[in-house]
Amino acid sequence: MTTATPEEARSQIVNLVRDFVRRDVEPVAAKLDREDIVPFDLIDKMKDLGLFGITVPEEYGGLGLDYTTFASIFEELSKGFMSISGAIGTHHILTYMLAHYGTEEQKNRFLPDLASGKKRGGLALTEPSGGTDVANLQTTAVKDGEEYIINGTKSFITNGRYGDAFCLLARTDKNAEPNHKGISAFIVEKGDPGFRVGRDLDKMGYRGLDTCELIFEDFRIPAENLIGGEEGRGFGQVMSGLETGRINIAARAVGVAQAAFNAAIRYSQQRETFGVPISQHQAIQLKLADMATKIQAARLLTYDAAGKKDRGERVDLEAGMAKLFASEMCQEVTLDAMRIHGGYGFIKDSPVERYYRDAPLMIIGEGTNEILRVLIARQLLRRPEYQI
Ligand SMILES: Cc1cc2nc3c(=O)[nH]c(=O)nc-3n(C[C@H](O)[C@H](O)[C@H](O)COP(=O)(O)OP(=O)(O)OC[C@H]3O[C@@H](n4cnc5c(N)ncnc54)[C@H](O)[C@@H]3O)c2cc1C
Repeated sequence: MTTATPEEARSQIVNLVRDFVRRDVEPVAAKLDREDIVPFDLIDKMKDLGLFGITVPEEYGGLGLDYTTFASIFEELSKGFMSISGAIGTHHILTYMLAHYGTEEQKNRFLPDLASGKKRGGLALTEPSGGTDVANLQTTAVKDGEEYIINGTKSFITNGRYGDAFCLLARTDKNAEPNHKGISAFIVEKGDPGFRVGRDLDKMGYRGLDTCELIFEDFRIPAENLIGGEEGRGFGQVMSGLETGRINIAARAVGVAQAAFNAAIRYSQQRETFGVPISQHQAIQLKLADMATKIQAARLLTYDAAGKKDRGERVDLEAGMAKLFASEMCQEVTLDAMRIHGGYGFIKDSPVERYYRDAPLMIIGEGTNEILRVLIARQLLRRPEYQI
């Protein structure tokens, strides 16, 4: 029996995802968005496709695929309904953290159930007092014998209500200098009253997916849930995980923008004004040309970052640039798609209205574009290879 090449494996799974999106997701996306329904049936189908373990090594029950395939899957899912990609978005940051920094015991204990989707994961980083200044977070983890006691509140946590396990960032050393060295990453699971879900957030977009507060009150976890077994490493571990999260967000932005463009070019060939389809007016053609060019530029940045990650190269700058450009592009392209639809683009019957509401999440999530610009500039100033 011959083994599939990475390209063959990629095209097989991406075709399966594309079929799933067209057959099962697109027909119900508007209803899920309008009524803010979490689609457990679709999430179960994603489990069957193996999408909860895309990059998890095969020895722990995952598909062991590369980041180029990972990005393609997020792009395809987002063409149908960006929110369903959210069910596996931060889940993958958790699996990344465990696969790269977890102890062998942690990998064996958690990865198989996460890879199969038996357990849905998430990332608990943001707090009510802020998400950008992560190094200043307030949640504490105090060692008590063979346990840690967690106290604090996390907000905006995707998969918060229906997820089972989370990567939690908490402060283990209040006196560490610089303060990010006092932060550690833990895996926390539900099941104890000390860990409860607070309110659900009612969002303008990215609907049909649970985003909640998580509250920890004297919540005890075994010391072996400290990821990697060493305190003070959490900030760096999460920042590395967020690089893959930025590839995922960039790919989502490309998917949503492509869906908006597809709707706009179709509509421009059907809608007539002044006796001709609006696609024959140069003003519309200029928009279509700019939209398609920007989508392609974002796609190239996204797959460049994914390819570098696959080759084991450093991608902090590239993933940041891809996320920044693709998310801003997505907001512009979805607005242009709405403008091409005229008044019909502004009403809820039109899918472009949803794409326009979903786009800002990509600007805010996995690091706002403001802080990303600061981080990109810092890298550019430090690294002479970019001054060419
Ligand atoms: C739908 C949704 C889902 C989310 N899911 C998750 C999740 O699963 N897990 C999780 O941990 N978080 C999640 N988040 C939180 C998200 O990561 C934060 O909202 C984001 O990091 C910004 O934090 P903040 O909202 O506290 O804004 P703040 O940090 O208060 O920032 C406010 C504004 O100031 C700007 N700003 C702040 N500091 C600087 C600076 N130094 N320089 C320039 N500009 C600055 C920001 O860019 C922003 O414009 C989610 C958010 C949303 C909306």
